[in-house]
Amino acid sequence: MEKIVALCKRRGFIFQSSEIYGGLNGAWDYGPLGVELKRNLKDYWWKCMTQLRDDIVGFDGSILMNAAVWKASGHVDTFSDPLVECMLTKKRYRADQIEPQSGTAYYYKGVTISVLESDNTTKNRDVQREFSVLVPAGKPEASAQKLARQFYNSIGYPDAMITSLNLDRSEVVQNTTKFNPENGAQLGPEKTFNLMFKTYVGPVEAPSSITYLRPETAQAMFVQFKNVLDVSQKKLPFGIAQIGKAFRNEINPRNFTFRSREFEQMEVEFFVKPGTGPEWLEKWLDERLAWYEAIGIPRAKIHVLTVPDKDRAFYSQGTYDLEYEFPFGIQELEGIAHRGDYDLKQHKEHSGKPLEYFDEESKTKYLPEVVEPSAGVDRTVLAVLCEGYAEETIKDEESGKEETRVVLRFSPRLAPIKAGIFPLLKNKPELVAVAQSIYKTLQPLLKVAYADTAAIGRRYRRMDEIGTPFGITIDFETLEGAKEASTSATGTPIAAGQKDTVTLRHRDSMKQERIAIADLPAYLLAKIA
Ligand code: ATP
Repeated sequence: MEKIVALCKRRGFIFQSSEIYGGLNGAWDYGPLGVELKRNLKDYWWKCMTQLRDDIVGFDGSILMNAAVWKASGHVDTFSDPLVECMLTKKRYRADQIEPQSGTAYYYKGVTISVLESDNTTKNRDVQREFSVLVPAGKPEASAQKLARQFYNSIGYPDAMITSLNLDRSEVVQNTTKFNPENGAQLGPEKTFNLMFKTYVGPVEAPSSITYLRPETAQAMFVQFKNVLDVSQKKLPFGIAQIGKAFRNEINPRNFTFRSREFEQMEVEFFVKPGTGPEWLEKWLDERLAWYEAIGIPRAKIHVLTVPDKDRAFYSQGTYDLEYEFPFGIQELEGIAHRGDYDLKQHKEHSGKPLEYFDEESKTKYLPEVVEPSAGVDRTVLAVLCEGYAEETIKDEESGKEETRVVLRFSPRLAPIKAGIFPLLKNKPELVAVAQSIYKTLQPLLKVAYADTAAIGRRYRRMDEIGTPFGITIDFETLEGAKEASTSATGTPIAAGQKDTVTLRHRDSMKQERIAIADLPAYLLAKIA
């Protein structure tokens, strides 16, 4: 993971937000290559959902909405995580993510301190303030005492004042989650913490002007269900697709971009006839699994978790989590939930507006059920980076020395740059002229890069590291004709002496073959479609 994070920074995929000011936890910036990768990913999702299907239409809702939306959806009352705070470091953790630990717990009642009285004598006084420490079995109490002293120091009793630590009792405990796994200090009481970012609309910071940055894109699609349905004249089943930012004040952002406070989602709300939700849930599962394969994430790396009843959101009648094998563990990429008619029903009740669908066939009105595939853009970008990253030992073609090749094996449709264009030598005007002409021809069609410095092997290597799938080299055969007859990358024959061909180098196999310049646009466009 560290290598991927370092590569992301070095080559301009992802930077820490506000880096020169020390960063902002849970916020990330996408650099020149990262933004291309992310955009390609979103474009491909958008194309699959809205262009290649007749039953889904696109939508782009606002981030700020009437606060009543979040009351109706249940987010104001229930969109929270259990939070605990380390009593010593004040670091916060999600209570449900604390790993159970075992050891000896030392419970202190408080400390005895010596206090200087007004008559200049010192007196001992007991301070009652409970604090406990867990130490691994077999470790002496001294390590617990050290932490306990730090705690009492932190609440205003420096070592110079403390005459004794007052131990109440100690006991062997198993599988407890009451202590900070990082230092053994006691965790404070569990509180619930709403994950929505609160803000004020307008100049007055009054309760009536409170609203929230949306924690998911879904709600705008429910609220606008009627409008979208009316204008698109669709019949059930039909869906609304949206890509956009969402904000969650996560207690503990971590694992690079995986858990951020600002992120993007790609969501479809797919409205279906009552009773058909379960069958659509299965269809969406298959559809989404195929999609991940199409962006280069093999089926074997995606784990499908049937979310057990106790862990499902209260509105869900069935949820699959699609999880990816990240280097830091198997973690969720996307949730596919059968939400029943919960959301439309809530908005109908709270707004007082009818949100039923009129079924022409049966001449009845009803609230449709909803199946929602909800994917994270940033998590998918991260999965694509992790999946693509490889290090290989290869022999340098020029020096013959062994070296490490770092390569990002992105699917061509996602790669930020599709092809690198290289004149073999930059001081040969004939080569440069052809290279420039190819560059100018391809530039309006797809993202290409031109590079003329360094040895050709080095230029290939740089492109490998940023995941560019094709290298196009303009060499002497381009000008003088092919040395011998061959078959081009398109399958057509190239005769000996045939001019206007270039070397096409493939990133993954490093195989080199020839291709006619005239065939390049069609060949490359077919590869990235
Ligand atoms: P988690 O359990 O990991 O917090 P979730 O189940 O709350 O996620 P959903 O509410 O189902 O997530 O959101 C749908 C998708 O949005 C997730 O599958 C994930 O890809 C993305 N997502 C959610 N929270 C974050 C986050 N903090 N950072 C990045 N992506 C996120």
